[in-house]
Amino acid sequence: MSTRGTDVAADEGSVAQGSEWESELYRMSTRQFDRTADLLALDPEFRARLRDPRRSLVVNFPVRMDDGRALSFTGYRVQHTLTMGPTKGGFRYAPDVSLGECAALAMWMTWKCALLGVPYGGAKGGVRVEPRHLSDGERERLTRRYAAELIPIVGPEQDIPAPDMGTGEREMAWFMDTYSQQVGYTVPGVVTGKPLVLGGTTGRREATGLGVVYALEAACDRVGLSARDARVAIQGFGNVGGVAARELDAIGARVVAISDQGGGVVRDDGLDIAALDLWVAEHGALAGFPDAEHVGPADVLEVPCEIVIPAATARQITAENADRLDCRLVVEAANGPTTPEAEEMLLKRGITIVPDVLANAGGVTVSYFEWVQDQQRYSWDSIDVQERLRRQMRAGFNRVTEAVDRLEVDWRSAALSVAIERVAEAARLRGIYP
Ligand code: NAD
Repeated sequence: MSTRGTDVAADEGSVAQGSEWESELYRMSTRQFDRTADLLALDPEFRARLRDPRRSLVVNFPVRMDDGRALSFTGYRVQHTLTMGPTKGGFRYAPDVSLGECAALAMWMTWKCALLGVPYGGAKGGVRVEPRHLSDGERERLTRRYAAELIPIVGPEQDIPAPDMGTGEREMAWFMDTYSQQVGYTVPGVVTGKPLVLGGTTGRREATGLGVVYALEAACDRVGLSARDARVAIQGFGNVGGVAARELDAIGARVVAISDQGGGVVRDDGLDIAALDLWVAEHGALAGFPDAEHVGPADVLEVPCEIVIPAATARQITAENADRLDCRLVVEAANGPTTPEAEEMLLKRGITIVPDVLANAGGVTVSYFEWVQDQQRYSWDSIDVQERLRRQMRAGFNRVTEAVDRLEVDWRSAALSVAIERVAEAARLRGIYP
């Protein structure tokens, strides 16, 4: 018996089930899900219930630009599962945001939260816009209107957005203010990643990069590498890649390559991260940095080292370059940086991949801490936040390695197995309404 609704795909000229979310990234996330569901012999009922997102919103809305024109923008919000509690996930401003991309990222958020024991389902959103072309005023009007469009489906008990690519503390402050104006009182818990004075938490900015390093250290112990002596190549020198680079530098690891969108810098005996920070603060990018060899933005992935950290964007390690990676460990700081074909090639060569749902989960974990503090109207200190983050990451890591041993599979399959089993169990216990 089919577990789908009407099989419309069989009708000529009709729209195939699931084609709403059609995109490279969605194909990637559902392929990972299908593979893990097969491994778990997941009941077809739960396979159908957990695969496609529960709720998707697409909005077109006008924004008055500085020159007086009203331009129309498309915004998205996808909530993958409503089973685990409120949904949680960032919203991004980028010219290529799509419903399919949001659906894939929302699904990964579900597995990340389930793996870390954070009581949320996954969500993701965005506006199709090139943020670099917006003035501050346009950015504020766009953010406030996007927030207003989302009001029916967001809230501290419903769906809690957060920053993502192209958005940050400013946008969270405007989002929170817009929501609060509508309901008539201040609601800090409607978003996370806020400025400290508005109910943000200490440690959020560093959380993802720090979590990446915690996961990296634990993975090194497991595969017999010394993090302190390792050579590391990082793609991306933004929030996540930058924090990871500084932290690795501080523990004595050698960062031999790092890149931003414009290109990469390489130095076999280790880059001076403090000097790179100063250079970028002054010049805006890595380009032109003295004392290093300059390469293309993706070339850093191929620099000989022990550990590669993709910390830029999705689909960077592909069938085209996977054979040229020269490392022992890949620690996925970005979401979806490795295509399934590339993953197969790396695993065959004995390279261990610490999957995104584990490696970059520090961000959502500290976002969860922010939400808890907002709900409690009580602030924790930075030691408290860092200690709890370390404990929560360690517990997630142990769940993954326990499943690697029990199921005798790669780390991603193990991580997704733990997460999918947990969400399927919750769905089974809740049953189906009515
Ligand atoms: P960011 O915008 O601060 O930094 C991104 C960096 O990557 C920049 O240095 C940019 O120049 C570089 N970059 C972009 N495209 C590139 C390319 N094609 N080649 C080389 N470099 C490129 O973003 P971020 O917050 O650091 O996020 C990075 C990744 O981590 C994203 O995939 C994001 O989804 C993921 N992530 C972020 C968080 C978080 O808390 N910020 C949490 C979980 C996952």
